[in-house]
Amino acid sequence: MIGLEGLRELFYLLSESYKVIAPTLRDGLLVYDHVKDFESLALGYKNVEGPALYAVEKASNGYFTYTHPANSPKAFLHPPELRLMKVRRSDGALSFEMERVEKKYCFFDVRACDLSAIKILDRVFLEKNSHPDPYYKSLRERAFIVAVNCTYRTSTCFCNTMGTGPEVKGGFDLLITELEDSFLLEVGSERGEKMVSLLEKKERTEERHFEEKERKLKYLKDSIEEFFDREGLAQRLYGKMDSSHWEHIEKRCLACTSCTQVCPTCFCFDIVERNSLESDCSERIRLWDSCFSPSFATVHRFNLRQSIHSRYRQWLMHKFAYWVDQFDSFGCVGCGRCITWCPAGIDIRQEVRRLAYG
Ligand code: SF4
Ligand code: SF4
Repeated sequence: MIGLEGLRELFYLLSESYKVIAPTLRDGLLVYDHVKDFESLALGYKNVEGPALYAVEKASNGYFTYTHPANSPKAFLHPPELRLMKVRRSDGALSFEMERVEKKYCFFDVRACDLSAIKILDRVFLEKNSHPDPYYKSLRERAFIVAVNCTYRTSTCFCNTMGTGPEVKGGFDLLITELEDSFLLEVGSERGEKMVSLLEKKERTEERHFEEKERKLKYLKDSIEEFFDREGLAQRLYGKMDSSHWEHIEKRCLACTSCTQVCPTCFCFDIVERNSLESDCSERIRLWDSCFSPSFATVHRFNLRQSIHSRYRQWLMHKFAYWVDQFDSFGCVGCGRCITWCPAGIDIRQEVRRLAYG
């Protein structure tokens, strides 16, 4: 068990060894960013979300009173722009510099949905990949994860429908649950154990603290509506490939790519060459791509998915059907970000429910 001072001590202990990435308030948004001071954490704020709706308020009591930031750990483990290689020409000879990724991140405050998203990215980039990604591998192996159990939800959360939350189950170094007047600290790895051994401001944990944790989690879980049944969902959706409902979605979808940008599991990227005007240097850059972009499915100058409904179908079917065949899991963790950040207010839960069960 730790109190607020113990939490502060833990934060600074982690800052000695890691670049701490944590939720902080920036331009009216809760975002993951590099946080150097304990006071800059977003503790005591609350996010209010709905379809195409977002606001941050001061919470009336508590510290971990929000759900998750607008961005996700993906922005650091699989950054939007990453230089892979630099080629220089000097005295007629070319030299090649490969990018070395050596950052040591501590993700401080990762919720159950985002932890599941990291496990999905592990499968995509490492475990189910015949060419494991060295950049992702390097960042992932060094990352220290402090997970936090949610005690609050927004109207867009559907982690229980996707079986990813709200309770954190494995995959963390340390796990925090906020109780009435303290924080329950649980250890999930040797690294986590070592970190706790360095803490001075800690107290003995008693059985009643675990009972309080269970009560809080049950209360939260019971408050989140189940939207659809995951059992047989992929097969139901495969049967709806020609549904007229896709065209109904096209009338609303702007193909703006917001949903794929905020999604913690969308991993598609493009690789481009960036040349200097002097022609003595060229960089190979990896950039996030999106299945909503017209260039995404363009092969030999022909776009295989010209209509917006075919792009939306690709996005939804990948998350809820193709992904199951490719990676043995759904590609959606129920974080709800795509619902909040869709300017047209398209709610993926409702679209899946209408398509599969309508
Ligand atoms: S599809 Fe939407 S709800 Fe599912 S993980 Fe991606 S952003 Fe979250
Ligand atoms: S579903 Fe919404 S966020 Fe996604 S591309 Fe369409 S309009 Fe943009």
